[in-house]
Amino acid sequence: MGSIVVPRLIERKRDGHPLNPGEWHQLIQAYVAGDVPDYQMSAMAMAVVFQGLEPDELNELVEAMLCSGDRLDLSGIARPRVDKHSIGGVGDKTSLLLAPMLACCGVAVPMISGRGLGHTGGTLDKLESIAGFRTRLSLKEATAQLGTLGVVMLGQAPELVPADRMLYALRDVTGTVASLPLISSSIMSKKLAEDLNGLVLDIKTGSGAFLTDPVQSLELARTMIGIGEARGCRTVGLLTAMDRPLGYACGNALEVVESIAGLRGAGPADLMEVTLALGIEMLLLAGQETDRASARGRLEETIANGAALALFTTMVEAQGGDPRMIVEPERLPRAPVVVEYLAPGDGAIRQIEPRTIGYGVIDLGGGRRVTTDTIDPAVGFVITAKPGQQVRTGETLATIHARTEAGALAGRQVLDHAIVIGAQAPVPPLISHRVDRDGVTRIP
Ligand code: URA
Repeated sequence: MGSIVVPRLIERKRDGHPLNPGEWHQLIQAYVAGDVPDYQMSAMAMAVVFQGLEPDELNELVEAMLCSGDRLDLSGIARPRVDKHSIGGVGDKTSLLLAPMLACCGVAVPMISGRGLGHTGGTLDKLESIAGFRTRLSLKEATAQLGTLGVVMLGQAPELVPADRMLYALRDVTGTVASLPLISSSIMSKKLAEDLNGLVLDIKTGSGAFLTDPVQSLELARTMIGIGEARGCRTVGLLTAMDRPLGYACGNALEVVESIAGLRGAGPADLMEVTLALGIEMLLLAGQETDRASARGRLEETIANGAALALFTTMVEAQGGDPRMIVEPERLPRAPVVVEYLAPGDGAIRQIEPRTIGYGVIDLGGGRRVTTDTIDPAVGFVITAKPGQQVRTGETLATIHARTEAGALAGRQVLDHAIVIGAQAPVPPLISHRVDRDGVTRIP
């Protein structure tokens, strides 16, 4: 496809018309081949943000992205293969807990993850705060490790869905993340390339989610479930709150520390509740359990008996990471400046705005502004206060982890904006809906 045609496609999409059958395939193929420059693809992504895609176009985009590279062939793995993916959140480290927990229950978890996107953190960036940890594995290596350990956590190998790898990085820095078709094609192409039997989606909802309107969150869930089910992958979604960070830690190494605490049985209550709810769905999809209570018990047991932590440590070592950082998390990168953030007044915590916190982590150096930025793994926030909690002036609400004193000062301003104290207000439920191919169920 010559460069003459691409501007016409962009114009058509910009003006609200669908692309013709075959054009999404050609465009994606040409982009991956390097024949369409990033600036044109960014313009097309922005046109999709505003105009959306028709169902047939979305279908073709998913197929085109899937076809842009190789897929895992896991037919030789005896265990059921189930993964989970989050739409993206702040403080969301459930993947780090779920992967080893599920593998301990006899499920194979081939977890292909992403980097930070927009204001949200990414599992790969978190894992790479462990010295030596390799997220770039060949498909052969990944398959072999899945066979031996039952778990592998990796980024998109160059040959795996390259279209998503390239588009994801582009969208991260061009304001083109918040789009139902772009999110669903990105996630589902990656996940379908994993050769899964089942997939659990953590659909974030609320002010810190990419799609802030709960109606859109439900629509996103339905769309992604439709894409998965149509391709033989049982898919279930939970709508979970992203109107506050999940857990306490927001920042790469800080989140690994909190994940290790979770695997030791000392994770924050909200983090563990969402982790267990997603894990239960994964175990049920895998057919390893048939009722929720036994599934929960089995997952809790992997923590209580130390098996999940031991497997996480083994996985880290197998992927070149320093296992001592898991055994002694104080060895993980630590910021030189750590200051407490104290409550400026009495009252109830009304809000802890995740989007402000997420951008605050980026400002501290913990995320990217342009694709080539390197990340400071040590910086971020540990916010122990939670919405609804009554606080007194001077009480510690958070700690700021910064590279410099100036960074800590900027971090303080971020928290001044993000944390609102006032009169008591209702706190939305942590998990509000369950969605599957049969419909939507409100969670009491
Ligand atoms: N996670 C992804 O992998 N892709 C998106 O577009 C959003 C979240």
